[in-house]
Amino acid sequence: MPTQTRKKYERFIFKDYQLEGQKIKFFYTLSANHLPPLDFCECLELPPTVPPPNPQDQNLAKLLDACHKVLGLSYYKTYLPETIVASPVSPLDAVFWQELYSVGLGEFYFRNNLPLPQHLQFPTQTTQTTQAQRFEVGSIKTHMEPKIMVLMGGGKDSAVVCSIAKHVSNSCIGFSLGDNFWAAKTAESAGLPYIQVKRTLDPALFQLPDARNGHIPISACIAFVSTLVAYLLGCNYVIAGNERGADEGNVELAGTTINHQWSKGSHFEDLFQQWCRRNLGGGPSYFSLLRPLSEIHIAKLFAQLPDLHPAFSSCNGNFKLHPQGLNQRWCGRCAKCVFTALLLKPHLTDEAYRHIFLADFLENPQNQTTLLNLLGLGTMKPWDCVGTFMESKLCFTMLYQQQRLSGMAWEVAQTYPEACVSEDFRDQWQKHLTPTHQHFLPPTWLPQIYAYY
Ligand SMILES: [Zn+2]
Repeated sequence: MPTQTRKKYERFIFKDYQLEGQKIKFFYTLSANHLPPLDFCECLELPPTVPPPNPQDQNLAKLLDACHKVLGLSYYKTYLPETIVASPVSPLDAVFWQELYSVGLGEFYFRNNLPLPQHLQFPTQTTQTTQAQRFEVGSIKTHMEPKIMVLMGGGKDSAVVCSIAKHVSNSCIGFSLGDNFWAAKTAESAGLPYIQVKRTLDPALFQLPDARNGHIPISACIAFVSTLVAYLLGCNYVIAGNERGADEGNVELAGTTINHQWSKGSHFEDLFQQWCRRNLGGGPSYFSLLRPLSEIHIAKLFAQLPDLHPAFSSCNGNFKLHPQGLNQRWCGRCAKCVFTALLLKPHLTDEAYRHIFLADFLENPQNQTTLLNLLGLGTMKPWDCVGTFMESKLCFTMLYQQQRLSGMAWEVAQTYPEACVSEDFRDQWQKHLTPTHQHFLPPTWLPQIYAYY
């Protein structure tokens, strides 16, 4: 819809939230000078095994306020009001929220042909706040077994995280925000208890014909909601499965890198850890267990977990339509399907590969544009959670050397010699199987984790 006919709302108001048993309701209003206000309510429903939050706990009050703010992204983006009306936060926290609502929504702004906002302001406190309460459950330093929450997306990454986390602690629990059939299946196959928080967006959001739409940094929403639940359950750690390649962006916009995976990147992990340290008195601690690893390395580890091969899906085409997973496992056409096939095939026998994917998506001529985009030979990196250009090229080269490219992929290898890494292939492959030391892992975990890698 042309901008001039879109309704204009001047203010986005974070109203309040209400606790009703296991439900937490967050209220928002878009207000305008010449239009009736638009009210929204988003609801989270905790499973019965999670004690409801007590807002008298200062840390919980901060987590609830933060969940209110992060979940507001879906409503704010509809009309992008210039003024934010919210409970005031510390100046450092305000900077955090301003970054989340600008660069964090980078893909949304870019794909809507909009510049990043330069003057968005979250209200700040003028007086010093009280110190964060001390987090009281045992920490790893006390030699108690750490209690770990594993974030589950239903893909290969969280399957690998489950297997590593079980080496560190017998007290692990899987978590997902919203229904996720494959996450539940992975947790079950890995022998982990699993909980999900039900999330209900306000239906009014889908009845705004002139509203803007687009991608939000969903991993930031998951980080806050999972940390809230981890706090309620007394978990020491919240562990994500974001790899090092998530830092590679898609495009540049006025000097800023726009990255579909911004909230899976190391910069967000750093910002979120700082937010937790400022506000939660030491815990729970959030980090990504796979940050030192490349996608190729994760694929190698996953290939060694055959029990989990029937229990995952990395297809976003199906997931967007059917998050409950009650349909076919792979669409065979989305960038995730094509990338996952390309990534896993070098590490699997033909039989295991066919068993997982049922077909070879790399043979399908309809996937040629996607494959070229993954290899860095097309127009741009797909807007999806896929690996770096180099990771795709290395896998493609390995399959070429294994003489396992056929159909469309074979044609691509013939037509585009630059699709293969030529000179330093072996060095590059080895480099991608070597963990880096750029991560946010707790130092006490390093010996166990590096032994597993
Ligand atoms: Zn797919």
